Amino acid sequence: MAIIASQPKHLCDLCGATGSVLQTGISDPDGNLEGVWGFQRCGNPDCAVCWLDPAPPPEELWKAYASYHTHTRKSGARFAKATLSLAHRLLKLVLLPTWMKSGLKRDADALRFMTLTGAANGKLLDVGCGGGRFLRRMKSRGWSVEGTDFDEQATTKVTSKYGIKTYVGDLPHCQLQADTYDVITLSQTIEHLYDPLTTLRECLRILKPGGLLVMTTPNVESIGAAEFGPAWRGWEAPRHLHLFSVASLSRLTQRAGFNIDEARSYSAGSAVVYRVSRQIREQKQLSWLEEFEALKWGYRKELAEERAQTSRPLSGQNVLLRARKPFTS
Ligand SMILES: [Zn+2]
Repeated sequence: MAIIASQPKHLCDLCGATGSVLQTGISDPDGNLEGVWGFQRCGNPDCAVCWLDPAPPPEELWKAYASYHTHTRKSGARFAKATLSLAHRLLKLVLLPTWMKSGLKRDADALRFMTLTGAANGKLLDVGCGGGRFLRRMKSRGWSVEGTDFDEQATTKVTSKYGIKTYVGDLPHCQLQADTYDVITLSQTIEHLYDPLTTLRECLRILKPGGLLVMTTPNVESIGAAEFGPAWRGWEAPRHLHLFSVASLSRLTQRAGFNIDEARSYSAGSAVVYRVSRQIREQKQLSWLEEFEALKWGYRKELAEERAQTSRPLSGQNVLLRARKPFTS
């Protein structure tokens, strides 16, 4: 296990207010880093963002990502990737009628394209593009696409493999041209940033007037977070530096100057989060049969979470936010 230095963080870095402890006792879910982390929630009701405490300083953060793309999760190591993918397909077939009737299938399809399926093709920037699979998908649908990521290995690969233009580093440091993009996407990215507000303001600057921002991020007010406590996969300490709810992400995005088009939570894809959270909690090696059972249980939880939205709205596993740059600022 590697050691990463972490420093206490007493105040909200987005508004300066004090917070209260939301969660303690979180370990690195991948088991690569030694340490225990927590989250605080900002006490300012106009902010209410959650932050990692203690948090690694920027010069230490690379350690958190050193094995990020290549790790094999210990608890899942015995369940080969191909078997897992087959199991997913089998379970979806079995559950398909229920899936179709719920909003899960529709959301899963829409989120593969970050809800852009009905939108006219234009110029798109994906912030935190990782391995570039989403960009490739959009490119094949006729979009003009570009990506940014901290990880130079990832951006180099996206450019050489798919012929997609990429930029390395923090968005504000990429110095992109103002009023350029029709759409900017941040898929599970905003929670990794030291300064989400500055990044959102930069998105506003480089979007065309009327341009669309689409974000997804783990929902700190989800049923899964409440049920699993420190074992919830969404904490992802110490890589997630801020976490949001539908309300707190909406407020921050408005503060950056956007108008909100849509803000809600969704449950599509939460089966995996449930399964992994359970493995983190139970800390044991599963046989392939137990893995399959856990996967089935995860899909049942996903369906239950979707159904629970009628009485507990905005408590799905992830937040989806769509916002626009005003035509006049
Ligand atoms: Zn705050």
